[in-house]
Amino acid sequence: MAITLPDGFLSYCKEWETRIGAFIEFKDEPEGPEAGDLSPDLPPIPPETAPLRGLPCAVKDNIAVKGFSLSCGSKLLEKLRSPYTATAVRRLEAAGAVVIGKTNMDEFGMGSSTDSSGIKRTNNPWDQSRVAGGSSGGSASAVAAGIVPFALGSDTGGSVRQPASFCGTVGLKPTYGAVSRYGLVAYASSLETIGVLADTVSRCRRVFAAIRGKDPRDETTREPPPGSPPLYGAARSKGRVIGVLSPEAVARAIAAAAQEASGVDALQTAAQAAVLEDEVAQAFRAAQDRLADMGYTLVDVEIPSLKYGVPAYYTIATAEASANLARFDGVRYGKRPDWAENPDDLIDKTREAGFGPEVKLRILLGTFVLRSGFQDRYYLRAQRIRSGIRRNFEELLGGMDYNGPPPPCDGILLPVFPTRAFGRGETGLSPFAQKAADLYTCCANLAGLPALSFPAELVGGLPVGVQLLGRAFSEATLLDIAEAYEAKYPIPHPAGYRPFWS
Ligand code: GLN
Repeated sequence: MAITLPDGFLSYCKEWETRIGAFIEFKDEPEGPEAGDLSPDLPPIPPETAPLRGLPCAVKDNIAVKGFSLSCGSKLLEKLRSPYTATAVRRLEAAGAVVIGKTNMDEFGMGSSTDSSGIKRTNNPWDQSRVAGGSSGGSASAVAAGIVPFALGSDTGGSVRQPASFCGTVGLKPTYGAVSRYGLVAYASSLETIGVLADTVSRCRRVFAAIRGKDPRDETTREPPPGSPPLYGAARSKGRVIGVLSPEAVARAIAAAAQEASGVDALQTAAQAAVLEDEVAQAFRAAQDRLADMGYTLVDVEIPSLKYGVPAYYTIATAEASANLARFDGVRYGKRPDWAENPDDLIDKTREAGFGPEVKLRILLGTFVLRSGFQDRYYLRAQRIRSGIRRNFEELLGGMDYNGPPPPCDGILLPVFPTRAFGRGETGLSPFAQKAADLYTCCANLAGLPALSFPAELVGGLPVGVQLLGRAFSEATLLDIAEAYEAKYPIPHPAGYRPFWS
């Protein structure tokens, strides 16, 4: 099932790719799945996804596509080829889309810039001296450059939404359990979901409609609860009341917590990292004004537990990562050393040479928070904070039961990341500041809720996204609001962009 690529498309891709380095693997003649691979065990794909037929798409290199690389951005898995295809991708293929390549990422999804990739460097299409964001930076830059109309990424703490904001694309992190994780190489299983990066909101909706649904291969998946807003059709809910989270109040709360624990320098850095860059603050205000003009009612909301979100996120994510990454031992997968003294030495040498510094740091952190006798102090406490965050959101947005009284808000507006795409070296953000800056994204993962990042404005030549976070299985509401915004404020494109797929 080969697709016909438009004239001039391949040279357009080559030109962009030398500048942005989005792909780990790219097929000039994409073929799609063999007929036998489109087995009939898949539930029917909704008819609204028909326009996806014949479109090329890109897939982050931690999501399995048969015959393609599955490096996870790691040297350790650089030579691995996937023997099978993830459910989300099979569903896209059943809808007629064709995978054209695998995209670069921070190693195992750990990072916010894609600079932690062990394979190559990815640049931002708007300014090649800046990062594309991460960890799904390759997918975001490929979409922003117009190489593909959409791509899959994965989001554990912001890895779809943050690069979407940096590159000026739409980025959806679905409700936990809405999309099968079968075929996604696990980083932190209780937090992560496969997500969508797309050039427009309507395309994002279509891709989400194709990939979501219960999958017997992932027991955490489920169908949307009765009464939840449908993605298509007349009964589409129109969100009306948008809660606005004040970034100033969040930054103040973190600064106050840092003050209490005076003497811990890292907390001061964390407090600074939470403050929005002027350009981001400006775009966030503009988005509020515009939504108000469009007729939405904006109300101020608070999420008191948010100030503890980042420490809770990094405790849980690293704990799960240390367990999930234990399988990469050079025995069953991975690049082995030429020679080892004994099996233990084989494992040590494989992991020492194969994992990059960020991954090693997180494995150490994870084993530290899980070590015997200390689980109460770190891991269980983080789980309590996680429950608190979920409760705070539920009070504002409602829970899974759609038959109760309407909740106070239809969605919550918040920034995606405190900065626009940052540079490297002196002009960059330290790895610690990057982690601290995950506060606006990681809360949706901790609570298992859907969140959508969409381009709000171009400030100083760089895109800035804003984020809408919603009740479980209310993706349709978030997409409706963003689609109305996009209709009035169209998504801009970087210089040199050609609309091959519109
Ligand atoms: N920046 C976050 C981290 O490094 C997000 C990662 C992700 O969502 N995969 O963990």
